[in-house]
Amino acid sequence: MNIPFHVPYIDDSDLEAAVSAIKSGWTTMGPKTIEFEERFAQYTGMPFSVAVSSCTAALHLALKVCNIGPGDEVIVPVNTFVATAEVVCYCGATPVFADIDRDSHCISVDSLYRLLSPKTRAIIPVHFAGTPCEMDAIDDIARQHNLYVIEDAAHALPSWYKNRLAGTIGHVGCYSFYATKTLATGEGGMLVTRNEEWARRAGRLRLHGMNRDAWRRYDRGGSWQYDIEEMGYKYNMTDIAAAMGLSQLKKVEMLQKKREAIAQRYNDAFSENDALIPYVVNKGDSSWHLYPLKINLEALTISRDEFIVKLEECGIKTSVHFIPLYRFSYFVKRYGNQEAMFTDSEWVFTREISLPIFPSMTDEQIDYVIECVLSIAKQFKR
Ligand SMILES: *Cc1c(COP(=O)(O)O)cnc(C)c1O
Repeated sequence: MNIPFHVPYIDDSDLEAAVSAIKSGWTTMGPKTIEFEERFAQYTGMPFSVAVSSCTAALHLALKVCNIGPGDEVIVPVNTFVATAEVVCYCGATPVFADIDRDSHCISVDSLYRLLSPKTRAIIPVHFAGTPCEMDAIDDIARQHNLYVIEDAAHALPSWYKNRLAGTIGHVGCYSFYATKTLATGEGGMLVTRNEEWARRAGRLRLHGMNRDAWRRYDRGGSWQYDIEEMGYKYNMTDIAAAMGLSQLKKVEMLQKKREAIAQRYNDAFSENDALIPYVVNKGDSSWHLYPLKINLEALTISRDEFIVKLEECGIKTSVHFIPLYRFSYFVKRYGNQEAMFTDSEWVFTREISLPIFPSMTDEQIDYVIECVLSIAKQFKR
C-alpha cells in the first residue's frame, strides 16, 4: 500500500467556488477577499482580519505594525518553520531562539525568562502541530516586560486554549492557507487583531502601501487616484484563493474532527509500546495539523532516520517537523554552532517522525500505518 504524507481536502464546492471566482472576471483581490475577511472575522470573533498572500506575509506585517526594526529582539521557538524567524530578519531585527517543551514541542516558558533582554520587543509563540502554547504564562511575561505577542497560528485552525481560539489571544494572530495546512487555498494567509489602526496599516502595507480601497480603482465608479503614504509590499490575496477559503472555512471543524479521530487511533495503538512515545493533547484542543510520533531510542537498535527509511520501504511517506532553526547553515554562520544549548529540542528532533494525518485517510490506510509502525518497532527492539 502507498500512503502519501498529505492529501489536501478539496471537494466539489471548493472547485465550484474557485471556478466562479475566475468566471466573474475579477481574479485578484476584490469582493471575494473582502467577504472572506468578514467571514473569517466572524468565525474567529476578532474585529479585524486582513487577508494576505501567505502566513509569512501576515507575520511580517504583524511585526511591521508593531514597529519592530533594527536593534530589536524577537523571541521565537527553534522548532518551527523558518518563516517564523525569517520575518524577524526581514525587519532588520534579531531572532532569539527559545528551546521547546519535550511533550508538546511548543516554546518552553522556562527558557523565555533567560532570553529576555532590554532589547526584547516581542514573542512569537507557535502552536506546534495545533497544540496551543501556554498562553497565560506567555501573556504574563509579555505584560511584565511590555512585549507584543504575535501568534504563529499556521497550524492552529482550529485549536483551542481554555476555550479561546488559538490566534485570537495575543496582540496579532497569523494563519496559513498554504497547500498542506488545515484550510488550503494553494497560497494564502490571514492576520487578525483587535487593533483597528494596525488592521488599517496592514491593509495598506499588503498592497504597495496604497490606501485601502485602491484595489477598486479599475471597477465602475472607482477612481484612478490613490496615494502612497508608506512603502508597502505585494502581499495581497487573490479572489480565487478567497473563494476557496470561504468554501473551506465552512468545513474546518468537520475536518478537525476527522484528524482528531485519526490521532486518537494512533495514540490508542502506540500508548502501550515502550519503543514509541505517542503525542497526547486534551481532546478538542488541537487542530491536529500534524501527528508527531516520537520513537524511544533507548528501546530501539535503529535511529529515527533509519525508522523513516523502514516506513518508506512499507510505502508510507512521513516527514520531520521541524529541522530546528539553529541547525541551518545561515544561523550557524550568524550565531555559531548552538546545538549544545538546545538539549530539549535536540532530544525531540532525534526522535520525531510526523505520520500521515489527513481527513480523507481511510480506515485501511490508518490500520496499515499502525501495523507498519508496530512491526518496525518490534523488529528493531533492543
Ligand atoms: C507553514 C508555516 C508558516 C508559513 O506559512 P505560509 O502560508 O506558507 O507562508 C509559518 N509558520 C509555521 C509554523 C508554518 O508551519
